[in-house]
Amino acid sequence: MAPDRIGILAGAASVPTGYLDLAEVGRAYDGSSKGRRAVAHFDEDAVTLAASAALAAVERAGGVDEPTMTVLATTAAPYKVRASASIVAAVAGTTGPAPSRELAGGARGGVAALVAAADAVAAGRVRRALVAAGERRPAEPGSDWERTYGDGGAAVVVGSGDGVLAELVGWGAVTDEVVEPFALDTGSFAQPIDMSLWRKTALAPSMIAAANAALADAGLAPKDVAGAVVASDDPRTAKLVGAQLGVPVVAPDVPLGAMGAAEPLLLALRALEDADPGAHVLVVGFGNGAEAVVLRATEALAQARTRVAVTADIKANSRTLPYTRYLRHRGLLAAESEVVEPLASQALTAREAASLYRLEGLVCGKCDAIQFPKRAVCWRCGAREGFDTTTLGRTGSLFTYTAGTLYPTPDVATIMGVAQLDGEGRFYTQLTEALPEEVSVGMQVELVFRLMHRGGGFNNYFWKLRPVKDAAGSEEAA
Ligand SMILES: [Zn+2]
Repeated sequence: MAPDRIGILAGAASVPTGYLDLAEVGRAYDGSSKGRRAVAHFDEDAVTLAASAALAAVERAGGVDEPTMTVLATTAAPYKVRASASIVAAVAGTTGPAPSRELAGGARGGVAALVAAADAVAAGRVRRALVAAGERRPAEPGSDWERTYGDGGAAVVVGSGDGVLAELVGWGAVTDEVVEPFALDTGSFAQPIDMSLWRKTALAPSMIAAANAALADAGLAPKDVAGAVVASDDPRTAKLVGAQLGVPVVAPDVPLGAMGAAEPLLLALRALEDADPGAHVLVVGFGNGAEAVVLRATEALAQARTRVAVTADIKANSRTLPYTRYLRHRGLLAAESEVVEPLASQALTAREAASLYRLEGLVCGKCDAIQFPKRAVCWRCGAREGFDTTTLGRTGSLFTYTAGTLYPTPDVATIMGVAQLDGEGRFYTQLTEALPEEVSVGMQVELVFRLMHRGGGFNNYFWKLRPVKDAAGSEEAA
């Protein structure tokens, strides 16, 4: 028997701290742009952005204590062959006896992933599902897409019962074979298309049809909806669809750019953060047709808004990244000195998976010392047995560091640091999103999941230290 109330239990966003000033990009080409878009740091990809949001969403949901399905949606998966959902699951703690799904290729995967998760819960296959989306889509320098796309991730935990903060009460979908933005398997970048033709003949009509179907499924009229999320890769379509439906369109607090599969989840969370209990939010995604859901904010939301609070994540997008440094971050302006082939071992990666993805270490049963990486003999008391596994804290203070420009990096310098973690343990790794002059001993740092390198022919992910911004955020945005 299907549980009676199915929907979102918690959610989080991972928005890069960096943004591109589009006026600067415009000056490099035709001088015609303004505004801004979120850009990932060089060590963030679709998977790290999805995984970071997934981990935060799981923590806001109170952790994982039962088999949880993992669904990843992205149009920028780092592998052509093999799934990436398991990497997200490894970071979020949802690996184990549960299914995973990957919705790739089209941006409709964001809404489709939410529907797939709710369906799996409704069918009784799983009690909980983690839905994560991440995007870092490659765009050709000078192209419209370079100015349109935004990078980021979002995730929600789906379940049933009284803890549901937003119930899925309506659904509608359209599938249509049309020419829409595409990248061929032989190319790197999305190609230009006739946007006006696409918008008028395919994109907007599909989105409106899917939205109306979802509203009818919920027994609602457009006037009953508090706000609509219209995620279309085209800001003009969002306005058009909102106007034709007669529903106010939800926008992020700062412009982030079109975020593909991640955008509907991120903006749905933003809308829920402010929603009154009983209010309805319409969420419409696109992709060779469109798919829409209606969410109803429940009474439980009033007491648990922090579980969907993404405003701070969105406002953290506050550091401008110079255009030339952005090009180097993307490998589009590479120097020969940056070509480096770090060693990586498949055997080591397999053996240390729990340490690499979950920050799993050992705690000594005799003296409580924490070992990371795991070792056979306690560094403090010499014990050789009686260890338990533990998960390291992800915040701490910088104990010592060194900065150098000799090691190849697309950034300004490579900074290595040791953090004294809260809850004990020291952690040695690279620092990220920090210039040497911004780093000092004792500063607050946090561990963030990043792409280290592509050694061994595969992606090597690990944790880096990032300076913690104070609550007011960086003031560089001005
Ligand atoms: Zn010990």
